[in-house]
Amino acid sequence: MNFVLEPPPQATVAVQGQRDRFPVRRIFCVGRNYAEHAREMGKDPDRDPPFFFTKPADAVVDAGETVAYPPLTKNFHYEAELVVAIGKRGFNVKPADARDYIYGYAIGNDLTRRDLQLDARGKGLPWDWGKAFDRSAVCGPIHRVQDEGHIEKGAITLSVNGVVKQTADLTDLIWAVPDIISFLARSMVIEPGDLIYTGTPAGVGPLVPGDLCLVQIDGLGSISTTISGEISAS
Ligand code: MN
Repeated sequence: MNFVLEPPPQATVAVQGQRDRFPVRRIFCVGRNYAEHAREMGKDPDRDPPFFFTKPADAVVDAGETVAYPPLTKNFHYEAELVVAIGKRGFNVKPADARDYIYGYAIGNDLTRRDLQLDARGKGLPWDWGKAFDRSAVCGPIHRVQDEGHIEKGAITLSVNGVVKQTADLTDLIWAVPDIISFLARSMVIEPGDLIYTGTPAGVGPLVPGDLCLVQIDGLGSISTTISGEISAS
């Protein structure tokens, strides 16, 4: 097949211990999935079904990269998250079967223009400007289930310049990973290459140019992201 334009490069993330990379198809993110974070966002935690938003696949950023402070915001936030990588096509997946669809797990940072997200939320508008901007989905190397098993408990911690800002345990998730996959796969067919960001604990806050943001999850190591000055138009 020929294209009228150069096709865009495939978005990818690293795989721990492998030279080959994981092709990213879609990025799904769960909102308000830790009770304390729901409260800090001004909402009551509940067992309503989880809700999802998305980011473009090419918003992914590898661990260790520098991210320029994005445009249009004065309140740019970090969000430490466990990321689930899907390795198998599925639809109407039961929670008890959901682990079979997981390729691996990674550490993520759901970078957020909080002022734009809250403004949209207040007006009942979509969250895209707050969530789905360029380089907004930091994702560390995927640790394969076949190598390391499932990551379902343990500490998740985020620090900025060495000061701890978020700390929780993966067992604090309101909706656990198998439930999240099951809900998503009732709405649409999940596909190999899909990433799911599973929500962030309490303690979200701002990043400014010069900050070093470190996220750790037990069993997955740590990833760092440096924030640089505002992106230029050129
Ligand atoms: Mn998030």
